Amino acid sequence: MSRRLPPNSTIGIFGGGQLGRMTAMAAARLGYRCHIFAPESDLPASQVSAQTTRAAYDDAEALETFAHAVDVVTLEFENIPVAAVRRVNEITSVHPGAEVLAICQDRGLEKEFLNRIGVATAAWAEVSDAAAVETAASAIGRPAILKSARFGYDGKGQVALWPGDDPAAALSAVGAPRCVLERMVEFACEISVMVARAVDGAIATWPAVENRHVRHILDTTIAPAQVSPAVAMKAEQVARHIAAEIGLVGVMGVEMFVTREDDVLVNELAPRPHNSGHWTIDACDTSQFEQLVRIVCGLPLGATHRHSDAVMKNLIGDEVDLWPEILAEPGARLHLYGKAETRPDRKMGHVTRLKPKKR
Ligand code: AMP
Repeated sequence: MSRRLPPNSTIGIFGGGQLGRMTAMAAARLGYRCHIFAPESDLPASQVSAQTTRAAYDDAEALETFAHAVDVVTLEFENIPVAAVRRVNEITSVHPGAEVLAICQDRGLEKEFLNRIGVATAAWAEVSDAAAVETAASAIGRPAILKSARFGYDGKGQVALWPGDDPAAALSAVGAPRCVLERMVEFACEISVMVARAVDGAIATWPAVENRHVRHILDTTIAPAQVSPAVAMKAEQVARHIAAEIGLVGVMGVEMFVTREDDVLVNELAPRPHNSGHWTIDACDTSQFEQLVRIVCGLPLGATHRHSDAVMKNLIGDEVDLWPEILAEPGARLHLYGKAETRPDRKMGHVTRLKPKKR
């Protein structure tokens, strides 16, 4: 059992984006302080946190000082160097831990892990040269998608491989030394489940939600997903199984495809709060952010009960200019991230619209 951190303790957060910001806001409500560690300036999370250390993730001295200044550490994006997490973990606890991050930072390791614990994914193979892509494409079938093994997000670092496409050209377009090739899934819809797991192994999930993307970026989340009860139950079971087997301490987004045959295939794991869980702030008893705070502070898990149905719309790029209209809309919950500069494809905020619960 972890020690219970009393209010006024300090939570360190690696990363300073909107996920860190909303975590810090949930922490503040429960009386905790946050200390952000990130290399960038003008961070959304720093605006609402007690302290920020602006330093590189390989700055050993800054990491050590940070670790001594906080009572526990969590993270808001998964590409924190594992070495930084290990260093800090010598001084104070980091949740989720280095082993979880190492798996989730690498699409090859992640898919290998999922398949090993019996979780279905699209057919895939690890590849690093054109001959291997050709062989894998013959086995997997085309169309397929070539993705960089590391540091990909929002569709970056991936290209489609259609019949007739040249594997060497696809590899150089991705431009990564190690890739995975995976079968392009003809999905009926994309869903995700947020799962939370405490140090003592207690697990909670929120209902499966449907995610709609525009240009590979999440645009809208519909809660709950309009799938059969059997698919929703299967998706939640899969998320619980993954959280238990990976030894998660924290919250995790499990992204999945639902096929036309109602099979559930896992696409990706995000061991942190996830954009598809933002609706939980306004529509559930406990949000994904409060749950993360509870977990890292050793408090009991909160109820994930959904009191309303919800549609969450991301405000991307200049969609944020709609804020006056959204504010004027009865019942619309507007969340802005405090980003000074609007850029195309940049997540500037989101709006959640609640509806009475249907089932
Ligand atoms: P990812 O970066 O893996 O989360 O992929 C971003 C988006 O690309 C997904 O949400 C899907 O819309 C699409 N995508 C990724 N992998 C596949 C796949 N194997 N089959 C079909 N669509 C995919």
